[in-house]
Amino acid sequence: MVRHNGHGHWRQVVEAGDHLVKLSGLLYAPQWASSRNKLNGKGVYLSRSWSKLLKEDNPYIVYGWPDMKTVPVEEVHGLVLFLVRLMKMGIVPEIACIGGHGRTGTLYSCLLVYLEGLTPRQAVIRTWNNYCESAVETLGQMKLVYKYGKYLESKKV
Ligand SMILES: [Zn+2]
Repeated sequence: MVRHNGHGHWRQVVEAGDHLVKLSGLLYAPQWASSRNKLNGKGVYLSRSWSKLLKEDNPYIVYGWPDMKTVPVEEVHGLVLFLVRLMKMGIVPEIACIGGHGRTGTLYSCLLVYLEGLTPRQAVIRTWNNYCESAVETLGQMKLVYKYGKYLESKKV
């Protein structure tokens, strides 16, 4: 598996609907960040490794999404709604994993489907264009974006 180290995805600001979101990889966190010197973070952190690095008094979710894997579509929807809630509070929320590509890119794509009404295909292409062409790393993650599109349609009925 090719690893895209050196992309430098740290709190990269991208658009989502009328809002903004920051996309990050833990690999690119500042050197000073540690369990004694914690980061402010508001948003959704898709690896348990984030837990020890975030100040407890911020609104965030640490969700254990295994690297290169997918998760249930209902849980993705819950994460999307949490991000949207923060946006409505005027916060620019963060989506973060380790490398900033697979899990982060997948959740960002799902957020675009929800907020902009894009098809999953359009959302993934927008993620590549707006953010990084290495985002959404596996076929399973790609399929999850499509599954999320179907899930949202089924809820509209
Ligand atoms: Zn990248």
